[in-house]
Amino acid sequence: MALPPSSSPDSPQPIRNLRITFWGVQGSCTAAPTRADVDEYARRIATATLDRALNDIAARVERGEGTPAALRELASPAALESYQRQLGMPQLPTFGGDTTCIEVETSAGDTLLFDMGSGMRAFSRNAVANWREARPRTLHVFLTHEHLDHRRGLPFASVCFERANPFTINMYGTHRTLAALDDRYGIFSKTLGPTVHYDDPLDYRSMSAAFAGTEIRGSEDASARPVAPSSWRVHDLKESIHIGATTVTPFEVYHAATRCLGFHVRQGDATFVFCTDHELRHGEDPADPRQLRSRQAEERLVAHCRNADVGYFDGQYMLAEYKGLQGIGGGAPRRRVDWGHGCMEDVIERARTCQVRRAYIGHHEPERPWAERFKIDTDLRALSHGKSFHIELAKAGTVIDV
Ligand SMILES: [Zn+2]
Ligand SMILES: [Zn+2]
Repeated sequence: MALPPSSSPDSPQPIRNLRITFWGVQGSCTAAPTRADVDEYARRIATATLDRALNDIAARVERGEGTPAALRELASPAALESYQRQLGMPQLPTFGGDTTCIEVETSAGDTLLFDMGSGMRAFSRNAVANWREARPRTLHVFLTHEHLDHRRGLPFASVCFERANPFTINMYGTHRTLAALDDRYGIFSKTLGPTVHYDDPLDYRSMSAAFAGTEIRGSEDASARPVAPSSWRVHDLKESIHIGATTVTPFEVYHAATRCLGFHVRQGDATFVFCTDHELRHGEDPADPRQLRSRQAEERLVAHCRNADVGYFDGQYMLAEYKGLQGIGGGAPRRRVDWGHGCMEDVIERARTCQVRRAYIGHHEPERPWAERFKIDTDLRALSHGKSFHIELAKAGTVIDV
């Protein structure tokens, strides 16, 4: 159905093709900034503010306005507030602490959500507050895999509990992903199994949303599936999914022990590739079947990334950390082969090879301090400065229009 583009108060411009909002970019577990992170942030704000103020005062002195008396007048609380507003706030990045949740709004008025990490709570609060009453409250949720950091947000999401104007939530994912959600909440089968309430006291009976599942089935699933639940539809992995005028093409990535999906999204002439929890494996034995599976997955990913407008990738480690040559955040070095996560160097190479216009490295390692993230982010921006691709660390709150 063709609907007018959304225009929330925070983003009044009409959507050209896709509007992508990062609600959660943290990897593995939620991570609030530590005291040291906050101190580092405050230090940077103080330094940037002093820089602005001293340059401003120097200019005033040059103009003959910066007499000691005039400067002392600035030292009252009200004058300081006004002076600070004149100077403006330095724009420093913040990374958020919520796990994976990315919203994609389309120019046709559809809303797609990628993963239901803890960032889904903030997304939901915004959706409930800002979606117009006339708008069908339908969400299309694409799930990469069943791990807790990618589904933790569901029981905290107000979109599940709106009674006056309930949401319809269409979920797309692997058999294991849908089964994990059904085991925990009974949202598809409307039955309470033995593992309901393992994670939370809630189940489908307290949720007013209408849930529908679509299993994205790959070739190897046919024999591996224990049961054929009638609780959801089945969709062939090789086929694209159409949401209005938007095409979503799933593909398999390498996440070690479990199946994980990436998604290529096209609307008009804009493309977005969402790929988290993918490891380009760097093992010692090139003939290891896991290495081959990982390389094949990388080839699929690269094919989807060519000339993409926006790419979101897992870059939890640097290669030396992955290989166990270097610790993270002062921790002991630890080999991380088959932990299912990617290296920043591989994302850079992918972005360069595929000419991804804007590439974002997410699934941040929880142990990595903000001071280090600031430095990596600055280095990444410098590396892609003036090039035909751009790369930076993902930050919660980022909104990208393509
Ligand atoms: Zn994850
Ligand atoms: Zn995972």
